[in-house]
Parts: sequence; C-alpha cells; structure tokens
Amino acid sequence: MPTLLLKSQTTAWIEELPRHLPDLKVRHYPDIGDPAGIDYALVWLPPPGLLKSLPNLKVIFSLGAGVDHILADPELPAGIPIVRISDPHQCHLMSEYALLAVLYFHRAMPAILADQLQAKWTRRWPLYTPETAVGVLGLGEIGQDIARKLCAIGFPVHGWSRSPKRVDGITCHHGQAGLRAMLPLCRYIICVLPLTEATQGIIDAAFLQALPPGAFVINMGRGGHVVDKDLLAALDIGHIAGAFLDVFDVEPLPPAHPYWQHPKVVVTPHCAGDVVPRTAASAIVANIRRHLGGDKLHNVYQPDRGY
Ligand code: NDP
Repeated sequence: MPTLLLKSQTTAWIEELPRHLPDLKVRHYPDIGDPAGIDYALVWLPPPGLLKSLPNLKVIFSLGAGVDHILADPELPAGIPIVRISDPHQCHLMSEYALLAVLYFHRAMPAILADQLQAKWTRRWPLYTPETAVGVLGLGEIGQDIARKLCAIGFPVHGWSRSPKRVDGITCHHGQAGLRAMLPLCRYIICVLPLTEATQGIIDAAFLQALPPGAFVINMGRGGHVVDKDLLAALDIGHIAGAFLDVFDVEPLPPAHPYWQHPKVVVTPHCAGDVVPRTAASAIVANIRRHLGGDKLHNVYQPDRGY
C-alpha cells in the first residue's frame, strides 16, 4: 500500500488525497511511523535531514510552485525526483493578486487613501490604459495566466522567459537582450520567476534604472529576486514610484525592516497564491499513479535549468 508523508499545516490533504487514490496511506509529520514505510513525501519547508531519513523515498512533491524551499536542505538526498505542484486555483489566486497590485497603483489608490484621511476630495485619473504597458517576468503556468488577464482588461502586456514563447495577445521577449528591450517600455513590472542562480538578485540597481521613471515593482516570485537596498534607494530618489511585495529574503519580514514603514511600499505576508488541496490533489495523485505504473512523471524539477 503506497504511503505518503505530509509536512504541511494544511490537514485537508489527509482526506483529499485518498479521495483520488483510496489505497494511499497518509502520515502527517511529525508522526512519521516507520521511516522505511514511506514512499512519497508532500512537503513545504521540510526540516533539514527529514527527507534523507526516509530510506525508501521515491518521489518528493513540492507544496509550492517553487522548489527552493526543498533545495535549501543541505542534506537533501540526491537522485530522487522532485515534482513541482501545478494547481489551477493557485494560478487564479496569483492572477487576482497581480491585478490587485497593478490596479492599486494604476488607479492611484495610495494617494486616494491618503486624501481620505484628511477628508480631501481630489479626483485623479489613471494614465491611458491602452498605452500603459505591464511587463511579466516569467511566462510559466502562472505568468501566462497573469499576462492573459491583464491583457483582457486592456493593458498592453510584455512577457519575459528563458526560451522563446508565443502567447496570443502578449509581446514575448526572452534572454538578456529581450529583457533589455522590454524594461524601458513597462510602467508596471511583475516578477513571477522561480528563484535560481540566474534569477537571484535580478531586480537590482541596473534593472531598476532600465525601467522608465515613475515605474512600479510588484514581486510575487521570491524575496531573493530583489536586491532590497537597490529597491529602497530607487524608491527614495523617486525613480521607482511604488512597490507591492509579497515575498522576502527572510520570512516573516523582521519588524525592523524598512519596508514595513515605507510610504511607497505595500507589504503582504506571502499570501499571493496558495496551493488548494481541493484543486491540487488530483494532479499529485495522477503523478503517484504514473509512478506506480512505471510511467514518466509530469512537472519534474530539472536541476540543469534550476526550476
Ligand atoms: P514555471 O516553472 O511554470 O515558469 C517559470 C517561468 O520563468 C518560465 O516562463 C521560465 O522560462 C521563466 N524563467 C526561469 N528562469 C528564467 C531565466 N533565467 N530568464 C528568464 N526567464 C526565466 O513556474 P510557475 O509559473 O508555476 O511559478 C513561478 C514562480 O512563482 C515560482 O517558482 C515561485 O517562485 C512563485 N510563486 C509564488 C507564490 C506566492 O504566493 N508568492 C505562489 C506560487 C508561485 P521558460 O518558459 O523558458 O522555461
């Protein structure tokens, strides 16, 4: 009987997974039982050494679109496939967040909320939407959904990926030359990249300088994508007009961090998208069935490209 170890505070998985595979036994960390009896692990932020302690582990399932929280384990056992989650509802949540952040700045909400505190009636209008471009860094499952939805409400949308892409209605760019061409065009830039060696610190002083004056930065990828001191400097000189940040190098964001009190920054507690058992369980179980049947797994992390 296949057995899966769950390391998550979301207990709904315990009922949801066997609904799709009644034979599956789920053990909830820290109640591991006999470590040798565990075939699969479904984890968010596994404690270092946990996965290594499971001698018969066959597949690691990430409870997030990224796998950086698993790769951070210095004792991660080699050679075990890591599967990235694919959840249509998480995509939907991420797109909601991206639209919220873009529209918050586009409709001048920071100024309107400040006016309200002083009972000031100042009417403000956005720039002409069909001429106000949004750039999406990362055109994977999530980035494409965001790009399509921004396009549907009338923004010109540019997207950036590692390899060349074609997405209806979106101007696609790739590689370093593509990034250089895209950045000066984008008033809003949204990061939904995976954190890899190549994307670590991508939003640095040079990147920010390449954006037009008055641009806004929205980071919903990982904290490591942004060089905080460079973003703070660009905000303070006014080149960047605002930032909407969901992810941080250290989470929870420490109370003394300058982002908390910064008048041009919105901080949210890594809540842009979550994996929802009701919509994600079937894809996980489909991969378990593939593994049991000796078939190729879907959505496997590829070490050579880092995501
Ligand atoms: P995918 O793997 O489907 O897509 C990743 C995209 O990034 C691809 O388009 C890929 O290019 C592109 N990319 C990767 N490396 C580079 C690079 N060096 N240069 C240019 N483009 C690059 O991931 P998802 O869309 O599922 O998720 C993206 C990220 O969103 C996650 O890794 C995670 O960091 C973040 N996330 C954050 C959440 C939150 O709550 N804040 C929730 C969920 C995800 P190509 O198409 O060529 O492969």
